Amino acid sequence: MVENITSNEGSRILGRDAQRNNILAARVVAETVKTTLGPKGMDKMLVDKVGNIIITNDGVTILKEMDIEHPAAKMIVDIAKTQDLEVGDGTTTAVMLAGKFLENAEKLLDQGIHPTIITRGYRWAEEKAQIILKELSVEIDSEEELMKIAQTAMTGKGAEYLREKFSEIIVEAVKMVSEKGKVDLEDIRIEKQKGKSLEDTELIKGIVLDNERVNLEMPKRVENAKIALVEEALEIKGLETETRLSISTPEQLQSFMNQEDSLLKSKVEKIKNSGANVLIVQKGIDELVQFYLARAGIYVVRRVSKKDMQSLSKATGARVVSKLTELREEDLGFAAYVEERKEGGEGMTYIMGCKNPKALTILIRGGTDHVIDEVERAIRDALGDVASTMEDSKVVAGGGAVEIELCKRLKEFANTLRGRERLAVEEFASAMEFIPRTLAENAGMDPIDVLTELRASHDANNRNAGLNLFTGKIEDTMMKGIIEPLKVKTQAIASASEVAIMILRIDDVIAARKSQGRPGTLSNMSGYD
Ligand code: ADP
Ligand code: MG
Repeated sequence: MVENITSNEGSRILGRDAQRNNILAARVVAETVKTTLGPKGMDKMLVDKVGNIIITNDGVTILKEMDIEHPAAKMIVDIAKTQDLEVGDGTTTAVMLAGKFLENAEKLLDQGIHPTIITRGYRWAEEKAQIILKELSVEIDSEEELMKIAQTAMTGKGAEYLREKFSEIIVEAVKMVSEKGKVDLEDIRIEKQKGKSLEDTELIKGIVLDNERVNLEMPKRVENAKIALVEEALEIKGLETETRLSISTPEQLQSFMNQEDSLLKSKVEKIKNSGANVLIVQKGIDELVQFYLARAGIYVVRRVSKKDMQSLSKATGARVVSKLTELREEDLGFAAYVEERKEGGEGMTYIMGCKNPKALTILIRGGTDHVIDEVERAIRDALGDVASTMEDSKVVAGGGAVEIELCKRLKEFANTLRGRERLAVEEFASAMEFIPRTLAENAGMDPIDVLTELRASHDANNRNAGLNLFTGKIEDTMMKGIIEPLKVKTQAIASASEVAIMILRIDDVIAARKSQGRPGTLSNMSGYD
């Protein structure tokens, strides 16, 4: 491994050793996610200390769950998070590119080329790549093409065999929430229900809560719902635990109970007086309150997450009040009806015909949690892609087509350069081939054959020639509907090269003083932030 130089300041790694060590760490991260890329990528099973498992193909999920301590590796993981946040898809691609940029830079370092030359070359290449990508993109406008985007995103994920149905749901949902070309994905909630099968997944034009009404005496359905959202618990807290009462006579007990009773009753009165017929509470509700609320014909749900409370507020126009005493008529929200539907034993609350018609829920149904969770990730990727295409409408050809064309054109650009930066631009260009190479490898195809054929096809000016993994052939992937949003690629290249450059500029890694661990190894620099 790396030889470390220890100084009085604590552990420290200098110069080429620092660079090598960082590059190695970044490459390891890239190698880890590489086998999941593309429709034929494999899944990973992540097991945590208590034995919980996640089965996934999703780059960002793998990296988030992995226990990564190395500072440079952490920087790579951050690319995946940024990509996920900015676009919602393309996380594996971004991480792989960063790893490859660094691996290729190492070749140049070995030849004695100074890091500043490499980073300058990379910067030029990145700028050029952005221009080329825009030139290669085409504008789409049909719903059918949006569905293709969603399908490309889901190919190879748990949702694959239902991708047509899911893509309809996704495109419809994104269209409904988009406003003047802007899409706020927060408006599309995803709710999961075990039981039935994936085919029963549906788009619900309303909010679905994973909670049933608290008491069977309550109405199962309320028309013209007037909804109160309350944060505080509707119970007299702490009586069992905090306060010690000494009650010695039955009269004392009775009077105490009466007192408690009237306190709880006054809470119920408060709700009745506001005019609410549906009450949604973030915390718990005392059984006695439940009883009185049931008698008043109010539909009540408790223990709703803060996030759901916010969605409900947005959907129904209700204001979330922190204390019941604050509740007034103006705070209520509206929905055409609220009802409980029971499927597979568990009841869910449907809030339909909301004041804000943009309130949507994709209700994913499926046999097991692992399947449902992985489908959720696939749907989220596709939602991200469709949303960014709605905002920008530019797409590029998938299956490695755009990467091969980028490689070709960046090499042409390199040829126009003098100076040693040219070598860096060439290495940046070559890094692009990592994507089609891996798509082929993961599908069990010979990567050399595939790359040779792809290059030849691009040299013959077929700029959309890519590897179609439905057929295993080199084809015009744009025509075949294997398309991805331009933004996935521009973002991936921008953040991958940014991080590669940042890591290349580091020639000194010093562990901050606070860790008391044995000096000299990078792993005990985890306190280094
Ligand atoms: P990421 O996390 O980078 O989105 P994915 O595992 O989703 O990784 O794989 C995305 C890659 O798979 C893209 O390069 C895309 O073009 C490619 N891809 C998707 N569908 C196909 C297909 N049918 N044939 C070939 N490549 C495909
Ligand atoms: Mg993807």
